[in-house]
Amino acid sequence: MFASILINTNAKELNRVFDYVVPKEYENVISIGARVFVPFGKGKNLSEGYVVDLMDSSEFANKEIASIEDSILTEDNVELAKLMAQKYFCNVADCIKLMLPPGASKKDLDKRVKEKTARFVYLNKEKDEIRFDIDNNIKSDKHKKLLEFLLENDGFDVTDLEVITDVSKGIMKTLEKNGYIKFVYEKVNRNPFAHKNIDRDSKLELNDEQQSVYDQIEFMIENEEFAEFLLKGITGSGKTEVYLQVIEKALSMEKRAMVLVPEISLTPQIVDRFLARFGDCVAVLHSKLSDGERFDEWNKIKNGEAKIIIGARSAIFAPIENLGIIIIDEEHDNSYKSDMTPRYNAKDIARFIAKKNNIPLILGSATPDICDYYKALNHDKELVELTKRANNASLPNIEIVDMRQELAVGNRSMFSLKLQEKLAENLKNKMQTILFINRRGFSTFVMCRDCGYVVKCPNCNIALTYHSFGNMLKCHYCGHEQPVLKICPECGSSKIKYFGTGTQKVESEISKLFPEASTIRMDIDTVSKKNSHENILNKFKNENIDILIGTQMIVKGHHFPNVTLVGVIAADGTLNIGDYRAEERTFQTITQVAGRAGRGEQKGDVIVQTYNPDNYAIVCSKNQDYEKFYDGEIMLRKRLNYPPFCDIILIRVNGENLENVKRVSAKLYEKLLKERNENLLIYKPVASPIDKIQNTYRWRIIIKGKLNRKAIYTINSAIGKLKKVKDINIIVDTNPSNMM
Ligand code: ADP
Ligand code: ZN
Ligand code: ZN
Repeated sequence: MFASILINTNAKELNRVFDYVVPKEYENVISIGARVFVPFGKGKNLSEGYVVDLMDSSEFANKEIASIEDSILTEDNVELAKLMAQKYFCNVADCIKLMLPPGASKKDLDKRVKEKTARFVYLNKEKDEIRFDIDNNIKSDKHKKLLEFLLENDGFDVTDLEVITDVSKGIMKTLEKNGYIKFVYEKVNRNPFAHKNIDRDSKLELNDEQQSVYDQIEFMIENEEFAEFLLKGITGSGKTEVYLQVIEKALSMEKRAMVLVPEISLTPQIVDRFLARFGDCVAVLHSKLSDGERFDEWNKIKNGEAKIIIGARSAIFAPIENLGIIIIDEEHDNSYKSDMTPRYNAKDIARFIAKKNNIPLILGSATPDICDYYKALNHDKELVELTKRANNASLPNIEIVDMRQELAVGNRSMFSLKLQEKLAENLKNKMQTILFINRRGFSTFVMCRDCGYVVKCPNCNIALTYHSFGNMLKCHYCGHEQPVLKICPECGSSKIKYFGTGTQKVESEISKLFPEASTIRMDIDTVSKKNSHENILNKFKNENIDILIGTQMIVKGHHFPNVTLVGVIAADGTLNIGDYRAEERTFQTITQVAGRAGRGEQKGDVIVQTYNPDNYAIVCSKNQDYEKFYDGEIMLRKRLNYPPFCDIILIRVNGENLENVKRVSAKLYEKLLKERNENLLIYKPVASPIDKIQNTYRWRIIIKGKLNRKAIYTINSAIGKLKKVKDINIIVDTNPSNMM
């Protein structure tokens, strides 16, 4: 018997499989996914690897597997990794790494994260005997105190015991020597919820809409059938309650559940609701955990202790067996698409796993991804809807303010008069306000301040991006370029502006206008520390801070009963990001932000400031009219051939030498055309919008077409035919979350 082994290494050129002979005595124990040690290369040391194939013959195998350790991966894992490697144009090893325990890619075994143990103190004699001795033989008060405590609390952590009883470890040693107590090392869980104390709640009685959604999903769970549901429900319509109850159903069948949420909304609020309903059989996986915490959570999942896993994108690879349901909340969020190798989309992986396990997959959102909604309407998924707020809270009142008018009446501040007035009123009433700005659009697009005209590409209908080098406007898609404008072609004004506003600027303007108001800021700069995201939100809530100023990360599922005003400073921020999803992102963002207002008793107000009050994304968000927005958007996508009508395949060519980057890009383009795949529309190579990052030049080729087997072949074949050029890195990314 022979085995194909993937060597666990970071060295790029080794990311392929090597064949080994399976020794006779291992033939019955070896399986696909097993972790092995093999002789590799010149060194004496054995290398770690994973079995990805077993076969009866091999032309290449000449060395034997040295040892078989354990089975970390399953056969399904390996199958998935192989599929991913094809679909996402990367190595199997890159995909396998996502499925290994935290820290497993560290070369040095001793440096890997391990279980944490602590010393516990136990009584070492019968309780009656100890009671007798306390009364008759033991003189020292400290000795008595410690033993009395242990009679009630046998098995206590040494350090905690020392703090609680005020008896030193030295004294405990004496008691150990006298045979009264013993020290035992035990595994402890580094519990990310250790600081929590949550009251349990019980399930709510579902309303009719919820019940109907629940019944359809329950049917699939009971019948053990795959189905993909798109749960479209306005904010506050009770989607989470439905999730909780279908999970309960899965648990009642001795199955387990996986819940994905966007990284930045993996806030305590959402986790708390699961803890309150299900107690501590919940495990969480996200990037803010310490290595130790992640390791323990992973093991809790692997050994079956955890029944419900809540995590961000990569949690989809957690080693969970016997799944009964997968839920992806805020499914439109672009954090489900990885922008690092492997460039996978967690929704695709979830679909694969759900099919394999014959279980339902639920995608939930108030503003579904246009592509998913299109598929649902075309019966590629089951559409289920919740149309009313579950606790009868009313939807906020949304008002669009035309910033061109503000300028016309002489208001040059970044706050409209309407917003200033509402802010003053809110401060007077001691209610809270959220000011949202969108940093993604930072200073890249060019707009006329008098009429709102934005310069767009004639071929692609996408805002041109300003490049300070050469003072040019460029299209990210087709390479069209033109000089910057001095005069607006629509209205003749010379008030052309390069757009961008930051949270700090908003904060300083507020302190000028309302010196008495307290403010707190939340953006990338302020939330980098562990838990600071949570701390800022708690502070805002508990200390009743007047104004929270923030970027994207404030828009997700928080509940602030005292927030009655939300101001969107520049709604145009996402409108002109040079991406075909600009309108979609704008609509989603405004709808999500608006959902933060008036969640309590009071009705909320939302002021949306824009220079494009007639843009359909903004108009539709005023009425929270998803269907109308969808109708407009899908027509445009069809006309211009964007997803869901095709895939956008982006091939990046990166390198430190600009001439090489250009030359390889041109060669690649040539090779791609030579493949003669008529189903692909291949654009000529252009510089990326951000064309140099950390001294690396970035060029790219955009391909429109369906990413099917033939397309994968075409692209791989073209890349394969390129002569290797040192330092040039070629990356293929399909439907990337970020076009920059
Ligand atoms: P979503 O996830 O759609 O934003 P939630 O599940 O958070 O909505 O529900 C919004 C609010 O309505 C929560 O406070 C929740 O407790 C409450 N709620 C949900 N379902 C019901 C129900 N069937 N009866 C009463 N209140 C409900
Ligand atoms: Zn103009
Ligand atoms: Zn263009």
